[in-house]
Amino acid sequence: MGLANAATRALRAYDPGHDLPALRRDYGERLIELGSNETSLGASPAVAAAITAALPDIYRYPDPKGGSLKRALAAHLGVEPAQIALGNGSHELLMLIAQCFADAQTSVVYSQYGFAVFAIGTAAAGAQPVCVPALPADHATAPLGHNLAAMAAAVRDDTRLVFVANPNNPTGTWFDDAALDAFLAALPEHVVVIVDEAYAEYVTAPGMQSAVRLLRGPQARRNLIVTRTFSKSYALAGLRVGYAIGSVEAICVLERLRESFNVNGLGLVAAEAALADTDHAARIREHTASEREWLAARLRERGLRVFPSQTNFVLVDFGRPASEIEAQLFRHAVVVRPMAGYGLPNCLRISVGTRAESERLLEALA
Ligand SMILES: *Cc1c(COP(=O)(O)O)cnc(C)c1O
Repeated sequence: MGLANAATRALRAYDPGHDLPALRRDYGERLIELGSNETSLGASPAVAAAITAALPDIYRYPDPKGGSLKRALAAHLGVEPAQIALGNGSHELLMLIAQCFADAQTSVVYSQYGFAVFAIGTAAAGAQPVCVPALPADHATAPLGHNLAAMAAAVRDDTRLVFVANPNNPTGTWFDDAALDAFLAALPEHVVVIVDEAYAEYVTAPGMQSAVRLLRGPQARRNLIVTRTFSKSYALAGLRVGYAIGSVEAICVLERLRESFNVNGLGLVAAEAALADTDHAARIREHTASEREWLAARLRERGLRVFPSQTNFVLVDFGRPASEIEAQLFRHAVVVRPMAGYGLPNCLRISVGTRAESERLLEALA
């Protein structure tokens, strides 16, 4: 429709993949969902209890500040509650950050094969995208990953934001603390760096702490914002709770434009309960790491290229257009994510499920 503004006319709607509610009706228990990087183990039982306890209050608006969840997160992360903003998923926060810091007079730097929302947020803000070519597919440690040196070099005088995801979706690639430190040191003062850590809890690689380490105490970096989510390792994708951690000044900027009741009351109590159940969180992390390596090994035995991953999914290169393979899997009621939209037509992104789900996937591939 011609009445939409220029930035919105240039956008396409986010593609969430198949119509999963319809598929669930048709296939029932047979459907294997490995396309959205959810956690098949499900949320902590404490979440259901917390939601049940909060149900009588749903006629009231939720806590507009999410104070209780922020205090729990602050204690968990070693920062101040005023350094945290809550979002309706971290997707909302990434959009909000772009809206608050970028505009038509500025540019935003992100990587080829970077998380799709970086480009959408940039376009929504009307800013100039600067999409930096990724590392080559034969790179030793981060094939198709962010080329941080090239990204730093691509920063212009008008650049206000640089988005990185660590680990990244859909590539699964990551960079360590030393690489992040060198990257930050190479950037000018006038850019805000966003480190999207949606998969941070899954990381086991050495030399990789969360970038939150740079936001603690009086030395907290002013121009760094880290985003996290309860959708992945805390298994609460359906409730939409994410958070951003930054300097108090940066978080105050986000608070100006944040919708007043953006996180609903059940989401707030559920996230707090999930955060507190550290045993359940550890089980999900350990299960995911071991099942990911098991699945990757089975796929490699079949001669497929599986990219290294520190997440709850693997990117698999079939060496030929994967759309046919995806369609075949779909006929076996196995849903995975095609990557043609990302410019990786030979690849599929496959979530790490339970052993039974992985076995169904492997049978369908056979
Ligand atoms: C899943 C994901 C998010 C967004 O998750 P929300 O459900 O909106 O919190 C953000 N970044 C990356 C890289 C992701 O994969």
